[in-house]
Amino acid sequence: MRAPVTAVRTGVHRFRTPTPETDGTLCWGATTAVTVEVDAGGSTGLGWTYSSPAAAAVVTDVLSGVLCGHDAFDIPGAAEAMHRAGRNLGTRGLFAQAQSAADIALWDLKARLLDVPLADLFGRTRHRVPVYGSGGFTNLDRTQLAEQVAGWVAAGCTAMKIKIGESWGANPGRDLARVRRLRELAGDGVELMVDANGGYSPGQARRIGAALDELGVVWFEEPVSSDDVDDLGALRGELRCDVAAGEYVADAREAARLAPAVDCLQLDVTRCGGYTGWLRCTAIAVAAGRQVSGHCAPSLHVPVAAALPELRHVEWFADHARLEPLLVDGAPPVIDGELLVPDAPGHGMTLRNPEESS
Ligand SMILES: [Mg+2]
Repeated sequence: MRAPVTAVRTGVHRFRTPTPETDGTLCWGATTAVTVEVDAGGSTGLGWTYSSPAAAAVVTDVLSGVLCGHDAFDIPGAAEAMHRAGRNLGTRGLFAQAQSAADIALWDLKARLLDVPLADLFGRTRHRVPVYGSGGFTNLDRTQLAEQVAGWVAAGCTAMKIKIGESWGANPGRDLARVRRLRELAGDGVELMVDANGGYSPGQARRIGAALDELGVVWFEEPVSSDDVDDLGALRGELRCDVAAGEYVADAREAARLAPAVDCLQLDVTRCGGYTGWLRCTAIAVAAGRQVSGHCAPSLHVPVAAALPELRHVEWFADHARLEPLLVDGAPPVIDGELLVPDAPGHGMTLRNPEESS
């Protein structure tokens, strides 16, 4: 069975946030989805990443030439060829995001050519994928946070995560007050999670972590920078709450370095080499005895997350939960705290405005 790739198209879709959004170490007013469509055998596969328009240029300038003429059924070969083509650019970061979008498009294309749901191609170990509500930006006021948490409660989420580490750890008192507020809003039965986005120093993270333990928080994400693997591992040994990181992992080697230092390895299909890379990285997490959580891009994680017995959950990130139904038709809904795994061919999603691609 062969189907040479005949065309690769990219699109840049920018979605303004309702108001500026801030975490511990960054502020933004828009989110950009870079889409990749790949044609072969009369079908089209769709992938995307959340990145800069520069990721579209990487696809157009580098990856398109690699993929055109390549057999759409040979996804491992395509992944290796794309990786090799990035040697002089650096294969991580932006390049890995571009490759991820292309890889996702290839998997979607393969499933559509076979006329099967992508979840069945990967092997479906579950029909619903658990999510946690995620957002709680540091610049939300009390009313805005209450509205966001009410939305998660209404969707049946049993775990919820807010941002802390405000202004690179400059306001720890407010960070902890907001965690206590989250407990009031969420109720006793909900697992509390926090993400500092690397905003604390190691000592600060230890002190904040001890306070979080007293508040019953179960998840402390990026208490320090993910580049400080030794500090992450030390915090993991000292704190009761789980230490989590991994959203910037771009390949299996990075996953192997980080897995021992965390309780749960976060992996992002739009950053770590698409579905091909995600499956490789999850195997490393499993071999290290670690759980896996899907980072952001909830709609794209569904088919591959449904194939992983060791999955903890997928992040239902407020920005992406809002924009994915605007970007595509067929984005899976959350019901009773779980994303439904689609039964349509491929991942079941198509671009709403394909005329914006070129
Ligand atoms: Mg994070």
